[in-house]
Amino acid sequence: MTDRYQTFTRTPVGRTLVKNLGLPDPAPLPRWTEGAPVVDGPVVFGSIAETDTGKAIQALLRDIGASFSTAAEGVASSELRPKALVFDATGATSTADLSSLQRFFSPVIRQLGAAGRVIVVGRTPELAASPEQQIAQRALEGFTRSLGKEVKRGATVNLVYVAPDAHDQLDSTLRFFLSPKSAYVDGQVARIGTGPLVATDPAAPLAGKVALVTGAARGIGAAIAQILARDGATVMGVDVPQNANDLRQVMTAIGGSELLLDVTAIDAPQRIAAHAEEHHGGLGIVVHNAGITRDKRLANMRTDTWDAVLDVNLRAPERITAHLLESGALHDGGSVIGVSSIAGIAGNNGQTNYATSKAGVIGLVQAYAPRLAERQIRINAVAPGFIETEMTARVPFAIREVGRRINSLQQGGQPVDVAETIAWFADPASAGVTGNVVRVCGQSMLGA
Ligand code: NAD
Repeated sequence: MTDRYQTFTRTPVGRTLVKNLGLPDPAPLPRWTEGAPVVDGPVVFGSIAETDTGKAIQALLRDIGASFSTAAEGVASSELRPKALVFDATGATSTADLSSLQRFFSPVIRQLGAAGRVIVVGRTPELAASPEQQIAQRALEGFTRSLGKEVKRGATVNLVYVAPDAHDQLDSTLRFFLSPKSAYVDGQVARIGTGPLVATDPAAPLAGKVALVTGAARGIGAAIAQILARDGATVMGVDVPQNANDLRQVMTAIGGSELLLDVTAIDAPQRIAAHAEEHHGGLGIVVHNAGITRDKRLANMRTDTWDAVLDVNLRAPERITAHLLESGALHDGGSVIGVSSIAGIAGNNGQTNYATSKAGVIGLVQAYAPRLAERQIRINAVAPGFIETEMTARVPFAIREVGRRINSLQQGGQPVDVAETIAWFADPASAGVTGNVVRVCGQSMLGA
């Protein structure tokens, strides 16, 4: 779907109106293309103290071939237009250290290039060594969320909390947040814990993995299937029989297998497990993407409308996950990914059924993450905001236009933005990433 307003703002007349009337000015957001570097411009790195995390960040920057300088060198250079600013704040042990944020960012933030990236890395507050450290670390959230609202021209700001001794787990997460793969992830907090050190090939991190994607015939599900296949996975796509042609097209293009079924069918978990075992020898990745909306205010809500949404969006992922775990069709070391929604976080008028189901998906993540740690199975969820698909094309015009603009990037996201976030979760190198719910919403004002 095209955003005609955004196209108009790029015309000479549109530019004049945007400038003179102070209208929203959504910047073009470049997406990652195959063969492109992680960051295509200079990076400035700063820190409060020398830490293992800071060393790991600098090692990664060297590894991806980024030209980077430290704060002192960078700020001194007048031609510098940094593409990314990375600040290691794990060394903040008390609130007095927070002044380093202002000292580092104020002189350099105006120079940040178009679609630039700001990443602040902190210590997980709950795992801090002292109350003083916990307070200082918790304060970073307010800083990053506010800066996300200040930066312009498609730039994003995100916070990564890393647990003690988990600095060796940073790579896949930093690669994601530095690159255009995170174009529509803004104002978010990701948490990284300890885990086994798993090295994957950045060109094909999912090689040898089999990924189940439900609702893969179109929209976000089709994009997830394509991106996971791009990253080397073999995809098993599921959708309802009515969408057989679309599913076939998507799966043929990526060499995946198809299973036509309704995920709410009583025997759906068993049929999915049987297909996975028979055709692929089991699963390494499970993406619960199939979802529906049936909006009505609660006073007008019919029982069947309520049940349909709860059944597809929550009961099916719950039942399928339970069966895949019990039967062993999902291998140890695997990754489960739910698709929630910002409506499940903020609530939405006319969506009691949908928001209940999507908040339940967050419950699924929180309930399973600690319980599956022993099997080294990780579970995370994305919570999309306004994404340009058939689902949002059906939203009445005025509501749709508001939905697109009320976020820091002033535009809707693309299905690929959700898919890239899922690919980061699915990467075995993200071994320390579990229990996260990351919004893909351009820093929506809803529920922020
Ligand atoms: P969509 O309607 O374009 O596609 C959904 C797909 O799921 C369709 O192919 C559909 O046939 C399939 N599906 C629906 N019910 C099914 C069932 N019972 N069994 C098997 N397949 C079924 O929707 P989309 O916009 O691509 O949304 C994908 C997911 O993202 C959903 O879970 C949705 O709730 C979530 N989401 C979307 C947005 C957005 O802005 N588009 C925002 C937040 C969350």
